[in-house]
Amino acid sequence: MNKRKNNGYKKSGNKPRNKPNRSEKPYGKHSQGSRGDSKSKGKRNAPDKRKRGGGKAVTAEVTCSGLTAEGKGIAQWEGKELEVPHLLPGEKAEVLVSKQGPYVNAEVKRVVTPAKERVEPPCPYYYQCGGCQLQHMTNNAQDRFKQRTIDKLMKPFGKPQPILTMDHPYDYRNKSHTTFGLNQNRQVIGGLYAQNSHEIIPMDRCLIHDPKADEIVNTIKDYLKNSKMQPYNEDTGQGFLRHVLIKVGKVSGEIMVVLVTASSEFKGKNNFVKALRKAHPEITTLLMNVNNKKTSMVLGDQEKVLFGKGTITDTLGGMEFEISAKSFYQINPVQTEKLYGKAIEMAELKGNETVIDAYCGIGTIGLIASQKAGNVIGVELNKDAVRDAIRNSKRNGVKNARFYQGDAGEFMVNMASKGEKADVVIMDPPRSGSDEAFLSSVVKLKPKRVVYVSCNPETQARDLKYLVKNGYQVDGIQPVDMFPQTYHVESVVKLVRKD
Ligand code: SAH
Repeated sequence: MNKRKNNGYKKSGNKPRNKPNRSEKPYGKHSQGSRGDSKSKGKRNAPDKRKRGGGKAVTAEVTCSGLTAEGKGIAQWEGKELEVPHLLPGEKAEVLVSKQGPYVNAEVKRVVTPAKERVEPPCPYYYQCGGCQLQHMTNNAQDRFKQRTIDKLMKPFGKPQPILTMDHPYDYRNKSHTTFGLNQNRQVIGGLYAQNSHEIIPMDRCLIHDPKADEIVNTIKDYLKNSKMQPYNEDTGQGFLRHVLIKVGKVSGEIMVVLVTASSEFKGKNNFVKALRKAHPEITTLLMNVNNKKTSMVLGDQEKVLFGKGTITDTLGGMEFEISAKSFYQINPVQTEKLYGKAIEMAELKGNETVIDAYCGIGTIGLIASQKAGNVIGVELNKDAVRDAIRNSKRNGVKNARFYQGDAGEFMVNMASKGEKADVVIMDPPRSGSDEAFLSSVVKLKPKRVVYVSCNPETQARDLKYLVKNGYQVDGIQPVDMFPQTYHVESVVKLVRKD
């Protein structure tokens, strides 16, 4: 059986290691991609037997019958179901099939009959990188794919609304990570990791990043090429600069640059800071984060502000939010406004309700909702995020919101056992979804409405089933495209109590 998860297959024989947590949502784990070339319509090759990644590869001609939830083409081959990245329904293609232990890996070698939904991916690194999975589809085909995913998963609960799409589905990420290193010729390179490896793909532009962020990274790259400052080498542990993290306030225009370095001693710091500020006066704060561990985590514990206030501020839903280097903030603010707008509309607040904002992060949804509610109770596991939520609440003069640190499930069990009341529960759990402790307490607290925001409709559907079995009914489903070019889709669902 072809397994959906990473199968460790490599193109270029680098050591398989865990992929670093490159970013929170749109970059999940994907199996190795390959070049699907719709233009090459040359002669069909004879069966091709090559060694690829340790397994013998054979060429097979297959026809794609559909797409997996991760946007891979489904095709039958010798009684097996193959999952082929970059293949579209209806397409006939030659694919290279190889065995990797218990897994079968398939990649497109040549598309024989391209579908009309196929486009040339605008990003030249698309087939190596894997951060995006749908660039070979037209925007409309991507929308239809995401709509179908939600329609299918939500079938037991009702008919979803048409997906809220993004007018310009590029340049949207307000946060980017770039990794620095040396290539085989010992030249400085910077870019994103190839899938499932620590091989850096040198790139000057990622089409879903904020363009300004990439300009700043390119300036830093040029600086390294012309100075004694060295990028870090993961194998030898030598060198200084590991990563550059950039956060952009899309509304405020404020920009945070974080240099992630292997040591706290920054030789030539003054010259560097001077040159960077001269080239980019738009940078409002520069930080240094020291990460001296052999780890896949980007950020280390030690943080030092080199100039500016160490945080940026951005505006969302008419409120200001202060964002630090480490705290979670939605990465597509244009679509986040649409998502939050829907969630708050579904909450139907009249002004006197008690609202629970569960899994609240830095308090964004709860603080925006507080303007229309009686009072808001936020709960979140991450300490830094709770601190930011409290700070953000003061910053916006909000008097009717309180934030607590803890597990949302335990918190709700506690509330239920004390017999406390809530009128509306807004929940936005991580990809793994919620848990029974949380859901059973919702049932006990009996809020009139539950608004469930999710970045993983599969776990959302699982949790909805529980709520529907226990007194609630679904009264609205709204998919939102928060992560264009990737297979990820967000959805917000309104539930109401039946009695
Ligand atoms: N609603 C926020 C954050 C959503 S991301 C926003 O829109 O920005 C999900 C959040 O759930 C993260 O901040 C994560 O730290 C938090 N989380 C994860 N597990 C949790 C748990 N068991 N209890 C409470 N919060 C949790």
